Amino acid sequence: MALIVQKYGGTSVGDADRIKNVARRVAESRAGGHQIVVVVSAMSGVTDSLIALAKKVADTPPEREMDVLLATGEQTTIALMAMALHAIGVPAVSLTGAQAGIVTDGVHTKAKIKNITPKETHRLLDAGNVVIVAGFQGQTPAGQITTLGRGGSDLTAIALAAALQADLCQIYTDVEGVYTADPRIVPSARKLDEIAYDEMLELAGSGAKVMQLRSVEIAKKFGVVFEVRSSMSNQPGTIVKEETRSMEDIVVRGVALDKNQAKLTLVGVPDRPGIAARTFRALAEAAISVDVIVQNVSHAAAAPLTDLSFTVDKPDLAKARLVIEGLKADIGFQEVTSDESICKLSIVGVGMRSHVGVAARMFETLAAEGVNIGMISTSEIKVSVVIDIAQGDRALRAVHSAFLG
Ligand code: ADP
Ligand code: ASP
Ligand code: MG
Repeated sequence: MALIVQKYGGTSVGDADRIKNVARRVAESRAGGHQIVVVVSAMSGVTDSLIALAKKVADTPPEREMDVLLATGEQTTIALMAMALHAIGVPAVSLTGAQAGIVTDGVHTKAKIKNITPKETHRLLDAGNVVIVAGFQGQTPAGQITTLGRGGSDLTAIALAAALQADLCQIYTDVEGVYTADPRIVPSARKLDEIAYDEMLELAGSGAKVMQLRSVEIAKKFGVVFEVRSSMSNQPGTIVKEETRSMEDIVVRGVALDKNQAKLTLVGVPDRPGIAARTFRALAEAAISVDVIVQNVSHAAAAPLTDLSFTVDKPDLAKARLVIEGLKADIGFQEVTSDESICKLSIVGVGMRSHVGVAARMFETLAAEGVNIGMISTSEIKVSVVIDIAQGDRALRAVHSAFLG
């Protein structure tokens, strides 16, 4: 008898028929003699509608209340899923994140899981139930409802698999697995049979929303091998696991496009020690994560001034601007500008460690497409460029075809 954690995303539970479809799949897995924990997301579109609703009521809704609101999306699905299982004769109990013992820090809307006490889950499983856990949510030690950031149901599933020492962790979604690129933008993208944690991490951090970034970090940390596969078919998916030697033979495993970034530029910043430290400390204290950073020498060569540009997630832009404007008197820059019409295009592969000329080939491909590069950042296994959002899809297809056919 195996303990299996299965996570079903928003599209997979998007309407009553799909919930019934998932219930049948869960019943089949259980009929194989296994204990099943099901993690579900809010039905597709629900989280977005709740966010839109909140914005109609208040320009900047308090983050604590956002969490109370957003957690209702997943709570709806757990109850409906339990009902669908009961209806086909399968004993099932739904649990909110708090009831499932998921304890987080207090950073509302982006909370991190601190620990999980799976006692109640084990008890219910041992009593013969399927346990259905609300993804994306937890509770602080003081009992406040929190959410884990967009796509956070992936994290609930991986963290639960680790805490329960599950034999299998399956992430069911609306595509057949992890592809060489988002198959909705690149029709020639291919499904990968396997991918290394580090590659999945870089792809997730580069906008491939098929897995939430933090969930992959936790999978790597706790050695949770998981499979991404379709809730609509029985095809094997993609196994995400520790790197093996043969993986280095492939130079580029995948490409990704992140349209959810915005660029901020501090124009005319005094060029002296401590400025970057103060800027990024203030952003960190506001829980804003910064991605690509570029510091230029200013055209005003006479005065020791520079321009400092960086990207943040689009939803953080307004908050980041406020933080930066709050530093103006202290730092003394001339102005701050922002640009939302950018995107980040990345190529990822562990094979880059042992192959040269990869970045050059990417830049040549973009040049041939007439795409101007605004910023560049690299890691050992990734090259990212910031480009005009209007050229993003075309550039992604060109780079995919250059490296992956
Ligand atoms: P779920 O609701 O199941 O969590 P998501 O919408 O969060 O599903 O993630 C699945 C989507 O991720 C796919 O529909 C696809 O458009 C997108 N995606 C982006 N990059 C990739 C990739 N490299 N491989 C597969 N899907 C990708
Ligand atoms: N419902 C949340 C979201 O839309 C969490 C998830 O789907 O994983 O981001
Ligand atoms: Mg998702």
